[in-house]
Amino acid sequence: MFKKVLIANRGEIAVRIIRACRELGILTVAVYSEIDKEALHTQLADEAVCIGPASAKDSYLNITNILSACVLTGADAIHPGFGFLSENAKFAKMCKECNIKFIGPDYASIELMGNKAKAREVMKDANIPVVPGFEGIIESEEHASYIAEEIGYPVMIKASAGGGGKGIRIAFNEGELRRGYNTAKAEAKACFGDDRLYIEKYIQNPRHIEFQILADTYGNVIHLNERECSLQRKNQKVLEEAPSTFLTSDLRIEMGEIAKKAAKAVNYKNAGTIEFLVDKDCNYYFMEMNTRIQVEHPITEMITGIDIVKEQLKIASGLELELKQEDIKIKGHAIECRINAEDPDRDFMPCPGKITELYVPGGRGVRLDSAIYCGYKIPHCYDSMLAKLISFGKDREEAITIMKRALGEFGVGGVKTNVDFQFSLLEMDEVVRGAYDTSFLEKVMVKRNA
Ligand code: ADP
Ligand code: ADP
Ligand code: MG
Repeated sequence: MFKKVLIANRGEIAVRIIRACRELGILTVAVYSEIDKEALHTQLADEAVCIGPASAKDSYLNITNILSACVLTGADAIHPGFGFLSENAKFAKMCKECNIKFIGPDYASIELMGNKAKAREVMKDANIPVVPGFEGIIESEEHASYIAEEIGYPVMIKASAGGGGKGIRIAFNEGELRRGYNTAKAEAKACFGDDRLYIEKYIQNPRHIEFQILADTYGNVIHLNERECSLQRKNQKVLEEAPSTFLTSDLRIEMGEIAKKAAKAVNYKNAGTIEFLVDKDCNYYFMEMNTRIQVEHPITEMITGIDIVKEQLKIASGLELELKQEDIKIKGHAIECRINAEDPDRDFMPCPGKITELYVPGGRGVRLDSAIYCGYKIPHCYDSMLAKLISFGKDREEAITIMKRALGEFGVGGVKTNVDFQFSLLEMDEVVRGAYDTSFLEKVMVKRNA
C-alpha cells in the first residue's frame, strides 16, 4: 500500500480522500491555492503545499506545480478527485513518466472515454447499445444540419470533451440546431478549450441511471449497482438516490452486466461509472463513461457498505479486488442532496461569501461530506458545491423522512444556499413517488418562474 498520497483537489472531495487515507494509515499531502490557505483540506492533511494563485488554471490545473509538490514531499501517488485534472489524460501520463502512481485508470482509457464521440464508437463496436446518432465530429454548421436531418429531430448537440452539463444544446428544428451549434461550440471552447461537437438523438423524458464499476489490474470487474440521477437542472444533477425506483431486478442484472462489458471493452481499471439513459419502455443506451470518482459515490457506499475511495487506493496500489459480484448486496435506500452556495430565487446564481453561522445536521442515518466551517470564506473562483448531505434508511420512505429532518436542521448563515429548495423537492408528489425523469425539474422551474 502507498505510504503517502497527494490529493490534487480541494473542497469536500479532498477531505473525503484524506479521511480514507487516514483510515488506511496513509500520510496525506494537500495542495492549495493562495485563496485556500485556510480551507479545510489544507488544514486536515498531514502536509500542505501552496501551488499557485487562486485562479484554477494557475493552481489546481497547474500540472508542473502539482508534480513538483509531489516530488518535493515524496508522495508515491496522486488522487485527482473529480473535476480539475481527474479526466486529463496528459496529466495521468505525466504522473507515470515521473514514476508517480495516478489513482485512476490508464491514461489511454481516460483519453478514449474523454472523447465522448470516440467513446460512442468504441461502445457500439463492443455491442453496447448507444444513443442513436453520429459517431464522428461535426465539421461545420452545414454538416450539423445534414447530420441532424439524418438522425431525425429532436437532436442533442454535445461537446465531445464535455462534463458538468456544459456544452449541451437541444434542437427541435433546423433554426434551433444552427443556433445551438454555435452556442455549444463557444461554450465548449470556453469550458474545455476544445470545441469539437457531436450530435445524437434527443431521448425524450428519459431517466439518467448510472452503474458504479470497480475493476482491478488482474481483470476482475464488478459493479456496485445503480444510482438514479434524473433530478437535474441544466443537465446537472441536483439530488440522487440509490437504488432507482425504475429498475426491476431483472433489468438491474442486465444493465449491470452490460456496464461491466463496457468497462472490459476499454480495459478499464479502478473505479468508474457507466452512465445510461433509459426511456419509458426500458430501452437503455450508453451515454458516457466517467473515468473517476463520482460526486454521488456516497449513496452507493451507504447501500452496499463498501468504501469506494479505499477500493480505489487498494486497486491503484496493485491489490486484487477481494469483493466478488455475489458479495454485492443492496441494503436499504440512500439519498444525496447537493448543497450549493447559490440563490434559488435568482436563477441559482452562485453566492460566495463568509459563513457567519453554521449548524450541521447529524443523528441516525445522516452523513455529511463537506468542507465548510463557521468563519470559512467561500471563494468566488470555484464550484459552488459546499457539501453533500446523505441520508440512509431501511427503505425509501425512511430515507426521505430522514433527509427532510436533516435538511430542516441545516443552518447556514451569511450566504444563500439551496437547502430549502432541496426540502421543497422532497415535498413534491412526483419525487415522493419516485415518478420523475430528467425533464421533471426543468418543468418545475418553468412553473416557478411563470
Ligand atoms: P458527476 O458526474 O460526478 O455527478 P458532475 O458532472 O457534477 O459530476 O461534475 C463534477 C465536478 O466536476 C463539477 O465541479 C464539474 O463542474 C466538474 N467537471 C466535470 N467534468 C468536467 C470536465 N470535463 N472539465 C472540467 N470540469 C468538469
Ligand atoms: P456531462 O459530461 O456534462 O455529464 P452527459 O453526456 O452525461 O454530459 O449528459 C448530461 C445530461 O444531459 C444527462 O444526464 C441527461 O440528463 C442529458 N442528456 C445527455 N444526452 C442526452 C440525450 N441524448 N437525450 C436526452 N438527454 C440527454
Ligand atoms: Mg454525465
